[in-house]
Amino acid sequence: MTKKIPEKTRFIFVTGGVVSSLGKGIACASLGFLLKSRGLKVTIMKMDPYLNVDPGTMSPFQHGEVYVTDDGSETDLDLGHYERFIAENMSRMNNVTTGQIYNTVISKERRGDYLGATVQVIPHITDEIKQRIIVLARETDAEVVIIEVGGTVGDIESQPFLEAIRQFCLEAGIGNTSNMHLTLVPFIESAGEPKTKPTQHSVMRLREIGIQPDFLICRSDRHLNKSLKEKIALFCNVRPERVIEAIDVSTIYEVPLRFADQQLDSKVMGLMNLKTDPANLNQLQNIVKKIKDPQSKIKIAICGKYIKLKDAYKSITESFVHAAVANNTRVTLKWVDSEEVEKDGPAKYFSDVCGILIPGGFGNRGIEGKLTAIKYSRENKVPFFGICLGLQCAVIEFARNSCNLKDANSIEFDPATPHPVIHIMESQKNIKDLGGTMRLGAYPCILKDQTRSFQAYQTNYINERHRHRYEVNNDYRRILQENGMVLSGLSPDGNLVEMIEIENHPYFLGCQFHPELKSRITQPHPLFVSFVKAALEFCSKNQQNG
Ligand code: GLN
Repeated sequence: MTKKIPEKTRFIFVTGGVVSSLGKGIACASLGFLLKSRGLKVTIMKMDPYLNVDPGTMSPFQHGEVYVTDDGSETDLDLGHYERFIAENMSRMNNVTTGQIYNTVISKERRGDYLGATVQVIPHITDEIKQRIIVLARETDAEVVIIEVGGTVGDIESQPFLEAIRQFCLEAGIGNTSNMHLTLVPFIESAGEPKTKPTQHSVMRLREIGIQPDFLICRSDRHLNKSLKEKIALFCNVRPERVIEAIDVSTIYEVPLRFADQQLDSKVMGLMNLKTDPANLNQLQNIVKKIKDPQSKIKIAICGKYIKLKDAYKSITESFVHAAVANNTRVTLKWVDSEEVEKDGPAKYFSDVCGILIPGGFGNRGIEGKLTAIKYSRENKVPFFGICLGLQCAVIEFARNSCNLKDANSIEFDPATPHPVIHIMESQKNIKDLGGTMRLGAYPCILKDQTRSFQAYQTNYINERHRHRYEVNNDYRRILQENGMVLSGLSPDGNLVEMIEIENHPYFLGCQFHPELKSRITQPHPLFVSFVKAALEFCSKNQQNG
């Protein structure tokens, strides 16, 4: 059944031009932050014009991190930015891909829903896109929905989305929608001035499709003066006061503040007849001050196999920014390739760091290097934090070296291991399809009293997001515990090990879930806060500040 556009909701469409990676996601999240700070109920949607149903089956090298929501959907990493800025939980409704749209339309066609009609991009695909926006607005009861369109204007893939937006704006009526276009204004050294032509061309493409931007967000490495903004405004048919500059900043959390300086929020609201009191931005201002001017600095190593593409660990990187603020410090990350550790040994990479983190991952490559890193942190009492695969590796290392279980392994890496301390979950055994079939999304976990985990959270009941197929093998619980491993967090039925620690170590903790997916700039995650605290203590004791 088709649903109508809700009257109370305003829709802001954000497109990008010239080049990719201009920070559209951050721009959307920042605008969302400002509007939410004004008391409006905001949600943000990402439209991804690729044919995968979701990014869950893509390599991190292709796509960066897969961001998992509470409801267990595998989504684009921009949803992570949205959650980190606006502190609202996203769901499967917040990420739409071409693959999903076609899947739905083709299923409907097979069911006979369009009986008699020729099924076409216009109107069937565009109708389905519009429906997704409407459903999100209705289900979340949002007053403002910001819709980010992935890719850049001119891509063949994004055309149906842009056409749907054109139709949507017409149907929603004047004053209920606005269009924002993010572009690049490059400074050309030899000419000695910033150039507006790429922006003009990008807007031209947009207008050919029938979308007239109301706002231009111009990324540049320097201030754009009044006459340049006027030139852009004239050529792009946008009011000069709605040409907003987005200069490179040292921290992404400064972006909302710079937008607010230019009254972007009040201008957008003015266009869409929304009225609220101005936002109080004191909290964010203080956070940004602390990010820029910390009392100390520490170095923490991340040892993984996707380190050449930092986007694969986006949420972890940001969680450290949040946790550093809470500890009045700055965390510099040292990216260590686990395969290099395999070759060169651990001391070369870890002797100057205050903590070691092993993030999530899949497959055999680099595993032995991770085990070496873990052994190093356990024996040298360097604070250790293992996430998902990181927990599994910590259990393998402990089994081999502290429990004398030779060749212990995960059956993911060695199906014939004599000691499968990590094995496939019962619920995963008969699964054949790879897309969307892991243990995904938020699950409750019960923490044991008087553990580091409890100390960090200050509660026994937590809820965290998962993305894995393997788990700790319960047959080995006894021997692990007898040798000093603490199973500090279990699923409520007691069947799944969700958190581990070891005794006689200042900070050695692993979790089967991904805490980085729930850290927000205004709500740093307790496990990152406690890990950074432990790292600070370790380095102040050892006086080897990174
Ligand atoms: N490969 C491991 C599993 O599937 C860990 C997954 C992860 O780290 N997200 O269980």
